[in-house]
Amino acid sequence: MQSHASFSDVSELQLSVRGPVFTPADPGFAPEVAAFNLSTQHQPDLAFGALDAEDVSAAIRWAAERGMPVSVQSTGHGATNAIEGGLLISTRRMLELSIDPLEKTARVGAGVRWKAVVELAATFGLMGLCGSTTDVGVVGYTLGGGLPILGRKYGFASDHVIAFELVTADGTQRRVTKDENSELFYLLRGGKGNLGIVTAMEFHLFPAADLYAGGMYFDGEHAPEVLRAFREWVPSLPVDASASMAFLRLPDMEMVPEPLRGKFVIHLRYAYQGDLATAAEVLEPMRHCAPFMMDATGPLDSTQFDTIHQDPDQPVPVREHGFLLDRLDDQAEDALLRHFGPGVESPVLLAELRLLGGALAKSTDGEDIVGGRDAAFSFFMGAIAVPPVLDILPGVFSAVHEDLRPAANAGTFVNLHGHFVDAEDRERPWLPSARERLRKAKAEVDPKNMFSFGHVVGLPVIDQTVLLEDVVTAGGDAVLNN
Ligand SMILES: Cc1cc2nc3c(=O)[nH]c(=O)nc-3n(C[C@H](O)[C@H](O)[C@H](O)COP(=O)(O)OP(=O)(O)OC[C@H]3O[C@@H](n4cnc5c(N)ncnc54)[C@H](O)[C@@H]3O)c2cc1C
Repeated sequence: MQSHASFSDVSELQLSVRGPVFTPADPGFAPEVAAFNLSTQHQPDLAFGALDAEDVSAAIRWAAERGMPVSVQSTGHGATNAIEGGLLISTRRMLELSIDPLEKTARVGAGVRWKAVVELAATFGLMGLCGSTTDVGVVGYTLGGGLPILGRKYGFASDHVIAFELVTADGTQRRVTKDENSELFYLLRGGKGNLGIVTAMEFHLFPAADLYAGGMYFDGEHAPEVLRAFREWVPSLPVDASASMAFLRLPDMEMVPEPLRGKFVIHLRYAYQGDLATAAEVLEPMRHCAPFMMDATGPLDSTQFDTIHQDPDQPVPVREHGFLLDRLDDQAEDALLRHFGPGVESPVLLAELRLLGGALAKSTDGEDIVGGRDAAFSFFMGAIAVPPVLDILPGVFSAVHEDLRPAANAGTFVNLHGHFVDAEDRERPWLPSARERLRKAKAEVDPKNMFSFGHVVGLPVIDQTVLLEDVVTAGGDAVLNN
């Protein structure tokens, strides 16, 4: 098959859409493709800022006619691997947001971040199932399952989706619900960007009252006692409680509060919804496991979710690696302390264990493909990805992974998988049965694997090296082969 892309083609795209089109020569191109993760530099051939579903549909049709692959970006929080070539559709202008307080539901456009939902929902006494930061996009997060702060009480965010609006590779706009396009509905819950571009999503909200949450910080020298206490404490937690602990090697930077700046600390995160006195009582054993530096737990307003994990709110260059653990046993505890305990020099700034279980273990219908339902913990590492550290990170991550392998689960959680290293690793978030279902659905709605960036199954049939630059240098009317 031959594909054609020329200046006149780009003009054609411009004429068929309302949003802006950027070539790499345009000053607006770099900010349009920039990701939150500064270590990932996307290099598509063209970028397009969609305004609505019609725009997305027209741009996909345009790309399909020319055999160009298509990628999508909202906030760039999930930019683990760089996009090279093709058309990047940016959804960040798609900011539709409405809440039905009686039905306790929300409808969001593809560019809406959790912060906007959390703030509007709070005015009705409601909340959405956001994760550790409200800066991520609601749609991208939910397509990956969406592991919320209160996941043990409510399950994954994708368990509560009512409808997706999806544009598939032929440019068709489809409403996808349990009753309409039901297999697509199940597969979008955990299937990430495999099947097309979601332009809007509707989902359930929950009462925001009676939250007790926050973080406690311990000096890193107490890591062994805190880890042991955490391990003994978590099996007793009710589903109303969620918890995680992180080994944090905090940079000596102004963004870090003074008592913690430049320190190695253990950060215990806790969130409970229900009776506030019980919430405090449940946390009590951790208050006595070691002397703490700071206790910032207590009643919490739902607009303050970000204060629990204190994730960075400014773009940073990071490299991440995550997987799942079936258990936290003596061997895993030893491995964690060997890699991250007191006295160890590690380039890993954050190594966190998030407790799973509770409602996360039960699918609402048994048909979705979210990873991690059968795991006990999510384990995730993040490091600042600048040379020379960048070069040693793959080795550091794989050494930790190897040492934790006896306790590791077969799957990974796609949202927290991090950078993938090869085709097998790219598909690893899905167990073989889920991969097969994704392949089958893709054969119907994306037979050429047009959506072949990020975590997807299968190899691209479409050539990803259709470079606009080649067209430009060839005089604006080149024929590109693929
Ligand atoms: C600081 C931080 C904290 C995080 N905490 C959590 C957490 O607590 N729980 C959790 O589950 N995840 C968490 N994540 C991971 C996050 O949910 C994923 O990275 C998610 O992909 C972000 O979505 P985005 O749209 O903001 O990112 P983007 O980088 O814009 O998109 C990432 C990918 O999502 C898909 N996607 C996005 N929009 C669409 C669309 N409209 N249609 C089809 N596919 C789309 C595409 O595959 C795209 O490549 C965290 C990430 C960061 C950086």
